[in-house]
Amino acid sequence: KTRVYKFGNKVADGDSTMRNLLGGKGANLAEMSKIGIPVPPGFTITTEVCTEYNELGREAVVQMIKGDVEAAIENIEQIMNAKFGDKDNPLLISVRSGARVSMPGMMDTVLNLGLNDDVVLGLAEKTKNERFAWDSYRRFIQMYGGVVLGMKPESKEDIDPFEEIMEHLKEKRDIELDTEFSIQDLKDLVYDFKDAVKKRTGHDFPTDPWDQLWGAVMAVFNSWNGDRAVYYRNMNGYPADWGTAVNVQAMVYGNMGDNSGTGVCFTRDAGTGENMFNGEYLINAQGEDVVAGVRTPQQITKIGSKRWAELAKIEEDERAEKYPSLEELMPAIFNELNEYQDKLEKHYRDMQDMEFTIQEGKLWILQTRNGKRTGAAMVKIAKDLLDEGLISEEEAVMSIEPNKLDELLHPVFDPKALKSSNVIAQGLPASPGAATGKIVFFADEADKYKSSILVRIETSPEDLEGMNIAKGILTARGGMTSHAAVVARGMGKCCVSGAGALKIDYKKRTLVVDGKEFHEGDWLSLNGSTGNIIEGKVATVEPDLSGEFAEIMKLADKFSSMQVRTNADSPKDAKVARSFGAQGIGLTRTEHMFFEVDRIKAMREMILADTVKGRKEALKELLPMQREDFEGIFEAMQGLPVTVRLLDPPLHEFVPHQLATQKDLAEEMHITLEAVKSKVSELEEFNPMLGHRGCRLGITYPEITEMQTRAILEAALNLKERGIETIPEIMIPLIGTVAEFENQEAVIRATANEVFEERGATVKYLVGTMIEIPRAALLADKIAEKADFFSFGTNDLTQMTFGYSRDDAGKFLPIYLKRGILKVDPFEVLDRDGVGQLVQLGTQRGRSTKENLKVGICGEHGGEPSSVEFCYETGMNYVSCSPYRVPIARLAAAQAAI
Ligand code: PEP
Ligand code: MG
Repeated sequence: KTRVYKFGNKVADGDSTMRNLLGGKGANLAEMSKIGIPVPPGFTITTEVCTEYNELGREAVVQMIKGDVEAAIENIEQIMNAKFGDKDNPLLISVRSGARVSMPGMMDTVLNLGLNDDVVLGLAEKTKNERFAWDSYRRFIQMYGGVVLGMKPESKEDIDPFEEIMEHLKEKRDIELDTEFSIQDLKDLVYDFKDAVKKRTGHDFPTDPWDQLWGAVMAVFNSWNGDRAVYYRNMNGYPADWGTAVNVQAMVYGNMGDNSGTGVCFTRDAGTGENMFNGEYLINAQGEDVVAGVRTPQQITKIGSKRWAELAKIEEDERAEKYPSLEELMPAIFNELNEYQDKLEKHYRDMQDMEFTIQEGKLWILQTRNGKRTGAAMVKIAKDLLDEGLISEEEAVMSIEPNKLDELLHPVFDPKALKSSNVIAQGLPASPGAATGKIVFFADEADKYKSSILVRIETSPEDLEGMNIAKGILTARGGMTSHAAVVARGMGKCCVSGAGALKIDYKKRTLVVDGKEFHEGDWLSLNGSTGNIIEGKVATVEPDLSGEFAEIMKLADKFSSMQVRTNADSPKDAKVARSFGAQGIGLTRTEHMFFEVDRIKAMREMILADTVKGRKEALKELLPMQREDFEGIFEAMQGLPVTVRLLDPPLHEFVPHQLATQKDLAEEMHITLEAVKSKVSELEEFNPMLGHRGCRLGITYPEITEMQTRAILEAALNLKERGIETIPEIMIPLIGTVAEFENQEAVIRATANEVFEERGATVKYLVGTMIEIPRAALLADKIAEKADFFSFGTNDLTQMTFGYSRDDAGKFLPIYLKRGILKVDPFEVLDRDGVGQLVQLGTQRGRSTKENLKVGICGEHGGEPSSVEFCYETGMNYVSCSPYRVPIARLAAAQAAI
């Protein structure tokens, strides 16, 4: 089998179809080379080798690929007309990771590999640029030291050990910028860096380029199992056995003087989706300078540059002189780049995110990939590409990441509240949305408050977890393509970057803007769409779901055959879900209706009553409240199906556990405090999730089932009188035997007949059941003989199939995920292998005795895209999920059907 794939000079061994083997980056490089894009030549070591490395170790892998790697290096040498490790005509290379999906900043990269004390002299000689050669060398030691040799800060208060050495030298020399270092300074730095490596690792910095190469390749393989990558993988549900490829490529330099440069560009706006070529570049710089946000990058296009200057409040004269666009500064290069971006977007038929370098007037395209984008941009781009005829309707629907729609469904700042708010500073609108929260300065403290805003000078991949927890991210440095900006957009998280006016002091934990001091814990609000930084807490409003969003959703519905219902417990939720396109209610958890203050009292009286008579009296109080809710819900759904579930949770959830409340209750019920206390302890259970809950309640206290049935049917009758026909679906929870179902069904039907007789009118209704105990799934054929419908409660079914307590899984699941014992959280993503079997078997067996049995799902999985796909494959009639996930499920249902 082939383990090393070459590319360059308009030919390649691989192509874009080999993403799993070559990684996204490697497949793209091969493809680009094939279609005539000038990529620096190189080769890709496959993802399979990463897996082999994990199994067999370094020695075995080197043996396997040594010959191929040597041949591939020779190929690069020929194309670049230079030699690896040669002092007089050196070839330098980069080594990068590349998994099958893009994981920005997650994995490590080494640039300038091949330099040593001899080669640096040759490079200086060849380029006639001694400064550049030594600068590259010190950058190489710095990167290689960090990535391969583990030279990282020792604690979060420390800075990078190499940066520390540089800071010292700057102080000593009384200079501020890296560019002010003299050649001698750079030489001193190289010496000091190597010394630091020797001191900390006990080994000399490797001088043989081949040793350097193998070290870097193994470091990339190792980084696949590094903390950052593992966290990112778990967050996205990517399995560990994908592995990463390694891309080795000839270096080209953007820091060879003023006719060199480097940049990042997008074929469309990644924030808004607007069809406008845009991006940023720096003259005389290397790629990491743009991403690290140390210098302020300039815009690629003239129009982009003008827009940027307006936001940054820079006058046109100053802009044109100090920050000219690439279009103005290097028109020929710009035209060439413009041509390639067009070619690449048409070739890949999606918005591209490209990196390029200009080396002494020659343009090289380093990489292109489908660009990360916000939810809003994703929808607009899909719609635009469709209208432009570049993609089909199916492709437009498929191009939307269902989970990303979430961003569009959440609130934005209330324009009225915004008017009276005080904007204290402005940064770049790096990732849209609105965020309000309390200031934290360290990523690992993001969970200190319920809502936090992470405020950093700049972010690094180590901050990922905290960025995910924070409501918004604010950085003082960095452009639109800085780490913070790219990662935040990927997460759909509000981010304002590059707010230069902020003075952040990590030690004092303060943020100073214009002389005003903010502290950790102070409220701050960010508008990621404008870049505004606002003092205090700002109210938010619901988003607008018309326009392109509505059109894409309409398109999705055209393809899907499975319905999407919602889980809603109140008329308000039902209305929200309707506006999101829910086609009915799949689950009303009636117990949630009792949590309000005035209701919980009546509920408690019911629970504490010792006699049936006492219980019935308390239930009488509850009846009108429930009926009123059901009426509201039925009305909101306007004749669409509504499934109402009878009381499910363990009763002790409702009893008062605090002394004061117990006293109140005792007084109100005219019983002693002791009586209340003893009842509370009587209801205490060792394992409430498997205890006295579900239909077990209705069976022991049939009067509860009677009251609930009455409330549901009276509500339906009341609506019928007002001209709204509803067919309530009454659902019995947590059954495991047919007899349990029969018991409750009898109570329901008897009560129904009573109600119909009293009212002299009837409504149609169904009696069905949850399938959430494995035994119920196994006996589905018998149950379906009685039940009108099934709804899979995959929360409980997962709990009981795995034997993981829903309430306690949080203690060990993170460890399971970290160690790879589970690939994903089964409470989030339906476990097809195990739980899924029960779902399929339950559906099949159910339909074997009742051919047209209506089957749905109402566990959390009903709103999770891959689970929705599974439900579609299982042949369910509908999925049901929380209101805000309805559009996501609609889209996932359409994608499953395409
Ligand atoms: C379930 O178990 O999946 C379900 C929907 O019910 P609950 O979460 O209320 O137990
Ligand atoms: Mg359940």
